Amino acid sequence: MLTESVSGLEHLAQSESMFALANGNIGLRGNLDEGEPWAQPGTYLNGFFESRPLPYAETGYGYPEAGQTVVNITNGKIFRLLVDDEPFDMRRGRVLAHERALDLRAGVLRRRVTWRSPGHRTVKVSSTRMVSFRQRAMVAIEYEVEVFDSSARVVVQSELVANETTPMPSADPRVAAALEHPLRGVGHAARDRSVYLIHQTERSGLAVVAMMDHLVEGPERVEITSDASDDLGRVTFITTLGTGQRLRIVKMVGYGWSGHRSVPALRDQAAAALAAAWHTGWEGMLLEQRTFLDGFWKYADVAIEGDPELQHAIRFAMFHLLQAGARAEGRALAAKGLTGPGYDGHAFWDCESFVLPVLTFTFPRAARDALIWRHSILPSARRRATQLGLKGAAFPWRTIAGEECSAYWPAGTAAFHVNADIAVAAMRYVAATGDIDFEERFGVELMVRTAQLWVSLGYFDRDGGFRIDGVTGPDEYSAVADNNVYTNLKAKQNLRGAADALERHRGRCPEVTDEEIAHWRRAADAMVIPYDEVLAVHPQSEGFTDHAVWDFDATDHYPLMMHSPYVDLYRKQVVKQADLTLALDDCGDEFTDAEKVRDFEYYEPLTVRDSSLSACTQAIVAAETGHLQLAYDYLGEAAFMDLDDLSHNTRDGLHMASLAGSWLALVCGFGGMRDHGGRLTFKPRIPEQAVRLRFSMQWRGGHLQVEVTTTSATYTCIDGDPITLTHHGEEVQAIKNSPITRPIPPFPDRPNPGQPKGRAPKHRGERLDNTERTGRKESTRALP
Ligand code: BGC
Repeated sequence: MLTESVSGLEHLAQSESMFALANGNIGLRGNLDEGEPWAQPGTYLNGFFESRPLPYAETGYGYPEAGQTVVNITNGKIFRLLVDDEPFDMRRGRVLAHERALDLRAGVLRRRVTWRSPGHRTVKVSSTRMVSFRQRAMVAIEYEVEVFDSSARVVVQSELVANETTPMPSADPRVAAALEHPLRGVGHAARDRSVYLIHQTERSGLAVVAMMDHLVEGPERVEITSDASDDLGRVTFITTLGTGQRLRIVKMVGYGWSGHRSVPALRDQAAAALAAAWHTGWEGMLLEQRTFLDGFWKYADVAIEGDPELQHAIRFAMFHLLQAGARAEGRALAAKGLTGPGYDGHAFWDCESFVLPVLTFTFPRAARDALIWRHSILPSARRRATQLGLKGAAFPWRTIAGEECSAYWPAGTAAFHVNADIAVAAMRYVAATGDIDFEERFGVELMVRTAQLWVSLGYFDRDGGFRIDGVTGPDEYSAVADNNVYTNLKAKQNLRGAADALERHRGRCPEVTDEEIAHWRRAADAMVIPYDEVLAVHPQSEGFTDHAVWDFDATDHYPLMMHSPYVDLYRKQVVKQADLTLALDDCGDEFTDAEKVRDFEYYEPLTVRDSSLSACTQAIVAAETGHLQLAYDYLGEAAFMDLDDLSHNTRDGLHMASLAGSWLALVCGFGGMRDHGGRLTFKPRIPEQAVRLRFSMQWRGGHLQVEVTTTSATYTCIDGDPITLTHHGEEVQAIKNSPITRPIPPFPDRPNPGQPKGRAPKHRGERLDNTERTGRKESTRALP
């Protein structure tokens, strides 16, 4: 349960993101019921966007011409309230009590406000808002008004509002482009308690419908009227409430969008969704939601004894990951999920490299769906490869509908690693689930087309090594570098995985010859992995360790990309986010333990963490290399990224990769879980602050539970066939209902290698209390 107990107006933008509700298809920011005040109104439908031209001062061949921006669609959350002649507004009168609670078990946002109007009428407003996991087109809201002191005339206007005003754009590249009035009305109607509005976008040609209907309970006499125009649909309820009397309204809102269905078809689709919701009823929908979440928490819950704040943060994180992906079904899983317009609503490699590893083990259906989305955009990825003079498929660095939307050449197009990230995510999903049907229908092609890209992008050099030159690795403070270790190692996995998968499903890509498959294997075997013999470390890309080290002592302002020219960042040793360190984690079987220790210690003092994608990886590798306290500190940074607004941009939406990173830091960091080569291994070790860590995983249809204390680990197969795994190198079998416990071997405790000045993660023991951190006067956090 995430709760907020004061008006929260001073942190409105952040709390709108934190209290967002979504089901992977529809997303509602946690805006107040009455619509105002807002920091960023937001209602989103996954995949619904407007195109806009990408302006270039000086264009070049192959630059993407059109961008895609998520649209704030018709807002169906609004209930305006008039008490006698005073509009309910938290900025006027007196808020006597206000509490909002995001219930992670029930999957609803509850709000209770007691407000005294400037005219001294006291009302209590209670609402419960839900985006249904079971009925993916549906939003349901229960809204109740109760009057105290004396009777009052109450008017409630339940609305659908399109083309809302949104804040002005900012210079920060992480913020969305502004779209002014992106929706054109193409149909509306109002009848009884039901209204619909249909709109179309100008350029992307998509149509969206929002339809609402109501049930009302209250005093005998409640007058109801409705009206609609292009951008406003309204059902008005008027009554007089005596002391202690209540007006209760249940509002159902059905959403739908399409690029090809007709306006009548869309209207009927929303009407059908509404009819199904009424059939289930409000109570029924609450029950469905709870049941859905019970199923989710069975595998997704992580219990940490000894650190209640972290306990809360990890549950908050898992809940939002579910909301981002649960019912995306063929649509993208964006960097901000559906919680805000940041990064224009685009999906990046964040999805496959951070979010999918978590969903694969906790909610595999969503991982499958996200990979099927990638498969569905293969045609544009193939066109893009052709445009770039390459073979196979070149997936976009950032997109909503499949086309490359990154206007920035080196950081975007050259970040080819996204292709291997996708292929490896598909390999991981297949290994963890045994879903051969997916592999055959979707996985093979993802792996094959990306393998074809790598062999056309790279080449065999004079010495027979396979080089991949001119790429941007995960660290965006180095661009167009040669032989990025992370990229090359992931490409190697991709090439081998494609060859193996195609041999299993030979009929899938019949035009691929045995010679081509052999070529992939040769390229993988000969992959160039640069090494600096003098420093005895891996340069993240060739020549990196020869560059001048950034003058960290003279640097006070972060993120560096907002204060220093890229041309300077590119030629120095300064790392935006884990890059070689990510290779140590993701491709850990390619490094010896001693290399991991040295490499990690080399990159720590260079890594500034100007991206929220970094801390979790640093936590994992810190834990593996004997820096348990440092790992714990990085875990804290990943886990509290949004709860404490550490990047100062939670207002634009939550950081899905970092939320996923808190699970990764716990399970892969302290649980020491790895799945290299499709084998499940554990090297658990937890810091003293945590008394016990317990997590679950789905593995090949079975349910494995792992419990770790500072001295031992217990593996229990809760359900399914015996699971073979290794514990600190020893093979064990987890058999149903026979927990198996193993001791944790001693391990050196290494000193912190140090970080750039001012960039060390906050020490967990020194964390501020709630009030200081959030600035909120009061904030309680309880377990769900
Ligand atoms: C990071 C990228 C990431 C993007 C979206 C950037 O700051 O450097 O790696 O994909 O944010 O989260």
